[in-house]
Amino acid sequence: MTTESADRDVQRMPLPDGRVAFLTCHDKTRLVSEPLAALGFVVEPLTTYNTDHFGTFSREVGRTGSAEDTVLAKAKLAADLASSRYGLGSEGSFGRDPHIGWMPWDYELLCLWDTERQYAVFALASSGATNYAQGEVDSMQAAVLFMDKAQFPEHALILGHPGEPWFRKGIRERDALIEQLQALLPQELRIWLETDMRAHFNPLRQAVIREAAVVLAQRLSSHCPQCQALGFAFARSEPGLLCVDCESSTPLAAVHIWQCPACVYSERRPVAGNAPAAHCGYCNP
Ligand SMILES: [Zn+2]
Ligand SMILES: [Zn+2]
Repeated sequence: MTTESADRDVQRMPLPDGRVAFLTCHDKTRLVSEPLAALGFVVEPLTTYNTDHFGTFSREVGRTGSAEDTVLAKAKLAADLASSRYGLGSEGSFGRDPHIGWMPWDYELLCLWDTERQYAVFALASSGATNYAQGEVDSMQAAVLFMDKAQFPEHALILGHPGEPWFRKGIRERDALIEQLQALLPQELRIWLETDMRAHFNPLRQAVIREAAVVLAQRLSSHCPQCQALGFAFARSEPGLLCVDCESSTPLAAVHIWQCPACVYSERRPVAGNAPAAHCGYCNP
């Protein structure tokens, strides 16, 4: 990453005419405002629209599109509802970790939509620091173990499935939950518990959303040399960095491709240096 040229870009950047409408029911504005304010954007929450229409973590409403489609739709809708040039969307999803594939992983996407120039800038942060979990418990002991692992009550829980008479979200009172489980467990064989992943109930998620906002601000702070659009940033890399010992090509990135999200302009930036022999198929098969 070329920090020096990014700094230059910040200096010659005009302040955007920038109200940013942010569609959120879950108090996320305070998480994203600061990094974007440094670029001249003022984030204004739009709380009149229920974002649950886009899908809920607890599956009362299923998400129909991908996380990218959903976050873009939210950003466009925000700009539309507020009649502002910029709209911001946020979308979290939970999957498996990118390394071994069995740890829960939090992926937080942000998207800034520019209505005037009709293009979007995306930013992603991800983290293994998540309490994402769900399952059935058949005893108080198992229930308490679940609560402790979920970092309850700092992080809220959901009791039951939608439709069950005891279904409740956003639970933060430990004594009340224990009392309710003590009454329910003798009647039901198993009770469903899950972590409430809505941002205002989940401090671990809040930290990752903050990180995504920093990434978004970084991407927005660089300008397209051709059309001046905000968000000229690294898009992908091409492998082939030469081995330091035998000069054959390795899977490590040889070229970083930077791309403008608004026009077709892109730049190929060669990676300096050579690949360590440990990455070489000949020297270290
Ligand atoms: Zn451009
Ligand atoms: Zn080699």
